[in-house]
Amino acid sequence: MSDCLFCKIIAGEIPSNKVYEDAVCYAFYDIDPQAPTHFLVVPKTHIASVSQVTEENSQDVGHIFAVIARLAKELGLESYRVVSNIGEQAGQSVPHLHFHVLSGRDMTWPPG
Ligand code: 5GP
Ligand code: ZN
Repeated sequence: MSDCLFCKIIAGEIPSNKVYEDAVCYAFYDIDPQAPTHFLVVPKTHIASVSQVTEENSQDVGHIFAVIARLAKELGLESYRVVSNIGEQAGQSVPHLHFHVLSGRDMTWPPG
């Protein structure tokens, strides 16, 4: 999608601090970290949010979770939170599916 911020980051048109990349997904550090470790994992295919996940594209989402588990192990994260905001009221500011991976500080529940 030509006017999508994360599509531009995936394409390398906007610089990012890459954590990991493969054919299906791209992981990069959040520009405004909310924890000592905070990176985002996004599918390379434009999907607007979890609300647009279907049987057809859910394989990519499953792959992303396997990548998150592997990256967390490699980065030595013992405890972490995976978050995806859907819609404005839930705090979604970029309409391209992304999973936040946050770690390195105490976290509260319920989230704010
Ligand atoms: P959301 O608010 O949609 O759940 O998450 C979007 C995230 O993208 C935010 O945490 C925000 O800090 C991050 N973000 C926005 N613009 C950029 C950018 O240009 N580069 C990087 N690395 N992160 C960004
Ligand atoms: Zn996009």
